[in-house]
Amino acid sequence: MIDPCSLESKPLLSVDEALERIKTAIQPIISSERVVLKNVLGRVLAEDVFSPINIPYDRNSAMDGYALSSKDTDAKDSFVLNLVGASWAGKPFQGALQAGQCVRIFTGAVVPDGADSVVIQEQASADGKDITFPANITTYQNIREAGEDVKQGGLLCNQLKKLTAADIGLLAAAGICDVPVRRKLNIAFFSTGDELMGLGQQPEAGKIYDSNRYALAGLLADPCYNVTDMGVIPDDKQLLEDGLKQAAECHDVVITTGGASVGEADYIKEILASCGEVNFWKIAIKPGKPLAFGKIGASYFFGLPGNPVSVMVTFQQIVAPALKQLSGAGANKSLRLLATSTTTLKKAPGRQEFQRGILTQDSNGDFFVASTGQQGSHILSSMSQGNCYIILAAESNGITIGKKVLVEPFTIFI
Ligand code: AMP
Ligand code: MG
Repeated sequence: MIDPCSLESKPLLSVDEALERIKTAIQPIISSERVVLKNVLGRVLAEDVFSPINIPYDRNSAMDGYALSSKDTDAKDSFVLNLVGASWAGKPFQGALQAGQCVRIFTGAVVPDGADSVVIQEQASADGKDITFPANITTYQNIREAGEDVKQGGLLCNQLKKLTAADIGLLAAAGICDVPVRRKLNIAFFSTGDELMGLGQQPEAGKIYDSNRYALAGLLADPCYNVTDMGVIPDDKQLLEDGLKQAAECHDVVITTGGASVGEADYIKEILASCGEVNFWKIAIKPGKPLAFGKIGASYFFGLPGNPVSVMVTFQQIVAPALKQLSGAGANKSLRLLATSTTTLKKAPGRQEFQRGILTQDSNGDFFVASTGQQGSHILSSMSQGNCYIILAAESNGITIGKKVLVEPFTIFI
């Protein structure tokens, strides 16, 4: 098996080299906006946020029971304390505990001054105001100290963090109503090709439904992106040039699919070279070799291949890290793990491959991966049936059954 990229006149850029070039070329956006907490999931925090209060705010009880002072306990005999009131969550006991006293207390209620221990209710027995406790009870227990989670002035979330549900909960626990986040990226995309028809049209010979725009819209569903779907532009040099220029004028990023190769009707790279700058075109990745990256005016441009699997692979491996960097979010590499291949994986040396696989885990926790089958860049069902990429190094000449391979689960698609 010969990889056609071995016929290239000069060696292609590796995936890592392409990522490095992108990293150098992209300047993250810096403008920010304040957004109310309920709308910040997945947005990129623009500044470090510190807690204006102690969390918890008060010293409070972790259990239902009785608050008492360790000074009043007895190591040898059971002892009786006088019940002087109750502290409820939201309704604290008024006053301080005196010697010989205890207070009924509930989870989350403020522990009264003078108390240093909460004894769970199961250990005590009540007879009116007389509460009997056993000998040798454990003291200094079941109390959550003020600021035990986060101290007043302590860091809640680092700047450039892509905010999670846990972050939002933590910010709310500190009473924070809104936070500064980096503004959203404006991203335009369109498909190119004379053969493309829209959904709703009757199938006809020579035409195919435009699936790339739908897959891309799904891949671009992210709270950090404002997305404009510009539809389909035919293989017409002038129309493509006009479309690209118009998109670049008011978007941070423009993404196209199709027309990035070397065929008669593949104009994308030529147009990029004439009205912008080409940073690279073609990388040693399979599927997805023809991939143009550059700039048109102030806008970053990604010309993805036309084949649907190539679109998804190059988006995930090349474009997604770039968009993340542009949005300001720190580079969090996707999780990759080793799995034992249960099928033979065919490959010719030359390009790094992202084959589609089905990853499973057995009862011992060991990972296994099987190929989804046909790996052509037009076999879109492989992306739908698979749940991971099997990543094969450029120099690999295939994998036999039982060998370990690197896999990357498709978490981003969920
Ligand atoms: P191209 O890169 O334009 O030569 O396209 C490569 C292959 O991808 C051809 O078989 C195209 O028909 C197909 N293709 C291009 N654009 C799309 C699209 N939007 N949806 C589905 N297939 C496409
Ligand atoms: Mg085409």
